[in-house]
Amino acid sequence: MFELVFLGTAAAVPSAERGSPALLVARGPARFLVDCGEGTQRQLMRGELGFRGLGHVLLTHLHLDHVAGLAGLLATRQLYQLGGAIEIVGSHETVAFAHRYLSATVGTEREGGYRLRAVLPGLVLSRPGWRVTALPVAHRGTQSLGYLFEEETRRALLPDRLDALGVPEGPERAALASGHPIVLADGRSITPEMVQGPNVPGAKLAIIGDVEEIASLVEPVRRADALVIEATFLERDSALAKSRGHLTAAAAARLAREAEVGELLLTHISGRYQSEEILAEAARLFPKARVAADFDRVSVTPTPPPKQEREGRRRGEVIRYRRRRGFRRGRPDG
Ligand SMILES: [Zn+2]
Repeated sequence: MFELVFLGTAAAVPSAERGSPALLVARGPARFLVDCGEGTQRQLMRGELGFRGLGHVLLTHLHLDHVAGLAGLLATRQLYQLGGAIEIVGSHETVAFAHRYLSATVGTEREGGYRLRAVLPGLVLSRPGWRVTALPVAHRGTQSLGYLFEEETRRALLPDRLDALGVPEGPERAALASGHPIVLADGRSITPEMVQGPNVPGAKLAIIGDVEEIASLVEPVRRADALVIEATFLERDSALAKSRGHLTAAAAARLAREAEVGELLLTHISGRYQSEEILAEAARLFPKARVAADFDRVSVTPTPPPKQEREGRRRGEVIRYRRRRGFRRGRPDG
């Protein structure tokens, strides 16, 4: 399960209600910021989240509304003498900008308590049972990235089967749980397959920042349990959306529908519209849509497969419900 706290949901300029773009993603004790707009450190305080456990900032692109909060956040961490460097991840272009900006403000990596890491689309980090990957995103000629947080499919052990086969508690069960066969004291061999339940899919969370088209995103975000994406404009201003390199709420909803995601979470909301208008436009095409507000908290858990597929599974048919595990590598300058 991934937990989200929306810290800033405004487009371009903050407002009294909405902060500049920033999203906290947590899984267990690990915490990530995706983007760090101006004022993010205060939003962390207001959300009673603090800085603890914050190990990474994943930047979608170099536009100021998405990165301006980095220097203040790092300066405060240094002032409080919070140990450990924050790793700041982004495309080469984004990281080059962050390097210029941070070295002129908080100083070198050592002085400022940060580490810069430029990545290409592909694996960003891997932890036991889950991982983060980056994908290329097209936005006004920038090297933009989106991020996928994905848990692996796992197979839990069935206590009834373990008991029936006489597998004792302790290291034997631990070995089976980590996929290794064991030999019991009486000489019987037990393989993991003999005591495992069905596959339990993990959660998939897709986070896309600013973006000007949806076609290239359908496959990467397919069947995400939650898709976080911008909805800066309404369809009546689609010409403006196109010229500014942003999406309309309808376009974001079309992506959610085509990619069969579980839930659509809209952010990067322009002050020119009411949230209700954004929601109404999206929900006409994709009912499980929601417009995020600052400090909204959302848990992302695996979506149960659609009904006909569950029935298909019961009948033993070949089913389509499968997570995409491959990632196309590509240039980040879409
Ligand atoms: Zn933006």
